[in-house]
Amino acid sequence: MALIVQKYGGTSVGDPERIKKVASRVARFRAEGHRVVVVVSAMSGETNRLIALASQISSKPSPRELDVVLATGEQVTIGLLCMAMNELGVKAKSYTGSQVRILTDSAHTKARILSIDETPIRTDLQEGSVVVVAGFQGVDELGNITTLGRGGSDTTGVALAAALGADECQIYTDVEGVYTTDPRIVSEARKLDTITFEEMLEMASLGSKVLQIRSVEFAGKYKVKLRVLSSFLEEGEGTLITVEESGGMEQPIISGIAFNRDEAKLTVLGVPDRPGIAYQILGPIAEANIDVDMIIQNVGRDGSTDFSFTIGRADYERAMEALAGVKEHIGARSIAGDTSMAKVSIVGVGMRSHPGVASRMFRTLAEEGINIQMISTSEIKISVVVDEKYLELAVRVLHKAFELENPATRGLTGAG
Ligand code: ASP
Ligand code: MG
Repeated sequence: MALIVQKYGGTSVGDPERIKKVASRVARFRAEGHRVVVVVSAMSGETNRLIALASQISSKPSPRELDVVLATGEQVTIGLLCMAMNELGVKAKSYTGSQVRILTDSAHTKARILSIDETPIRTDLQEGSVVVVAGFQGVDELGNITTLGRGGSDTTGVALAAALGADECQIYTDVEGVYTTDPRIVSEARKLDTITFEEMLEMASLGSKVLQIRSVEFAGKYKVKLRVLSSFLEEGEGTLITVEESGGMEQPIISGIAFNRDEAKLTVLGVPDRPGIAYQILGPIAEANIDVDMIIQNVGRDGSTDFSFTIGRADYERAMEALAGVKEHIGARSIAGDTSMAKVSIVGVGMRSHPGVASRMFRTLAEEGINIQMISTSEIKISVVVDEKYLELAVRVLHKAFELENPATRGLTGAG
């Protein structure tokens, strides 16, 4: 008998039929003798609908009131799911985030969980109830309703699993698990049986949307056994996120390819090559609260140099505005921008022990005539920025070059 936390995403509870299906799945786990805590998202599309509704009232709604509105989506689902379980003769009890007391900080719309009072849940479980908790929401110290940011129900699930010391946290979604890359782009993309936390973190922060990045951080920190699987299939082990690398010859070099279409590049041309320049360019960007991703500064010649960096495309106009004063101030020649950039990244812990991964990546792109505009690396990741029109081609040829379609090799063969 195990204690399991199951989180069901929006599509898994998208309509009454789906909710009934979830109820039967939970009932099955109960019948096997497991204790189950369920975390649910709002029905699919509901959070977007609520955001749109708010925007029709105000272009800049108070974050506190926005959270009051957004939290209702999940409240509907917990009630409906409990009713569906009652219909099956299963005892079930629902809780909103503030009822469980998922205590968060007061950063409305992106709050962080501080603590969870799991005592009432334990009591209910002891009495044989399934406990159903609203994802994505909590309450701050003053009793204000908070939400955890888009995709936040994943984090609620993992945090509850950590607080309860659950044997496993299962994240149910509409795909079979974590894939080598997006199957909509590469039809040979394959579901992974396992992936390490480190890799999953990179994949999540690089654009793979299976899990909210914070939930992966949380699970890694508290050693929660985390599994991603489909609620649309009766069978299947999904993908287990592991702490350990499988190691040895079996360790694939590359586990997955992540990508992000929405990048923009800014270049400040002809800046004087002297201390403080990077700060003078990026300071105003930081003040405008814009995240900078890759940064490249060329080596200066004739005392001047070019300075490029990438940001999210949505921030492009604001970034240009922030830089307007900078040009005169530091005496740069001009500022250039390009909003049709994309980032492609290969991720794998096996990179650590295999030289030549970068050269294989660059050769593969060169053979297709794809120009690399920027490069950045970490121990287990290599990212390149390319023109957006080459994105899908780049993902496809890299998937092939590293043999990701083949579980037996996954990049182990071929010259470096
Ligand atoms: N309903 C919220 C969203 O759509 C939270 C979640 O589904 O995880 O972002
Ligand atoms: Mg989600």
